[in-house]
Amino acid sequence: MIDVSFKEDPDAKIVLINPEIIHTEGRLTSNEGCLSLPEFREKVTRPRSVTARAQNMEGETIEVSGEELLARALVHETDHLNGKLYISHISALKRDMMKRKIRKLVKQGEW
Ligand SMILES: [Zn+2]
Repeated sequence: MIDVSFKEDPDAKIVLINPEIIHTEGRLTSNEGCLSLPEFREKVTRPRSVTARAQNMEGETIEVSGEELLARALVHETDHLNGKLYISHISALKRDMMKRKIRKLVKQGEW
């Protein structure tokens, strides 16, 4: 489920079942975060525009295309279904730094 209106517009909610990315175009680098890694954000390069194919709640095959934030959300959420977090797309050095910070926060009981 994707809502790039951040709950401002109930009609903006998109439900995609078993989505797969079928087309991408361009590149866009922007800050990205994830509810699975609260308080962390990193610059991630993603496609500027994305088309996903999925089923809707009625079981019909649909295609959803989006640019910029919606494109980022489509690849981010599809990554989750494939067992990936956005940190798979940052440098190993940045990823290790983030892991160290998380370990420290866990040790301090703050995460
Ligand atoms: Zn996420």
